[in-house]
Amino acid sequence: MSLALSTEKAIIQQLQDPLFEEKGVMVFIKREDLIHPQVSGNKWRKLKYNLQQAKTEKHTQLLTFGGAYSNHILATAAAGKLAHFETIGVIRGEEHLPLNSTLAFAKSCGMQLHYLDRSTYRQKHLPDIQTQLMDQFGSCYIIPEGGSNLWAVKGCSEMVKEIDIPFDYICAACGTGGTLAGIIAGLEGKQNIIGIPVLKGANFLYEEIESLLKQYNASTHFTNWELHLNYHFGGYAKNKPELKQFILDFQQRHHIDIEFVYTAKLFWGIYDLIKNDYFQPETRIMAIHTGGLRNF
Ligand SMILES: *Cc1c(COP(=O)(O)O)cnc(C)c1O
Repeated sequence: MSLALSTEKAIIQQLQDPLFEEKGVMVFIKREDLIHPQVSGNKWRKLKYNLQQAKTEKHTQLLTFGGAYSNHILATAAAGKLAHFETIGVIRGEEHLPLNSTLAFAKSCGMQLHYLDRSTYRQKHLPDIQTQLMDQFGSCYIIPEGGSNLWAVKGCSEMVKEIDIPFDYICAACGTGGTLAGIIAGLEGKQNIIGIPVLKGANFLYEEIESLLKQYNASTHFTNWELHLNYHFGGYAKNKPELKQFILDFQQRHHIDIEFVYTAKLFWGIYDLIKNDYFQPETRIMAIHTGGLRNF
């Protein structure tokens, strides 16, 4: 499949900070954000096998769902274009013109945008709604919201299999939990996984992740993962002055960009856990930079 990407193997860098030295821990960052300028990080991992499967099933159209600021919508539009699929984005809520930068970019990739009011959108998984969409657009390969399905788990599991240095913990931001499920599956019970949900009230993620893992491989059950639910800063895409300042400090210290929706909350969480002696001295922590930057 022709998804021309700069490199599949994201580089790993070590972060230096007096705090890490004081606590005797080592922090590494896997730069999934550098995989591709538009289909960045985990969104590419999640789409990879979905696109292959769509080709195998001889589909020419991809249809997926998301909010008006969704990284997944953006990635599907860009990846669809690269891999020569027509794309349809079913967007939550009403159309607002002019389009915001996410939707304008998606449209510029050729994505057709279709809006569903919020209550219909909540029922998008029901056969009725899906049949209606197929009637309107013709046969499509349907990718769920956020891209989180079994193919996403498989794609994200490769993210950790590539890591070629020792580590004890792997940490990643969670939205729908598909990425974390992939990381858990990829580690096969070794090491420990910490997920930092960026939504408020993310208790549903325990079940969601368990369910994805079970569908992926029903014969094993992993217990080497945990979620830290208190780093959401008020909820999805909510920002606070101290988080903004943290992003600036992080950029200055490490020369790496992070953004407020996912990766800043992840690194805030990692710093906070380190400050609170959550990790034993000598612990090697691998943070996943899942991307999400909009610098194009
Ligand atoms: C979508 C996204 C996530 C969350 O991934 P899930 O699989 O939905 O948990 C994390 N980081 C970034 C940058 C994302 O765009």
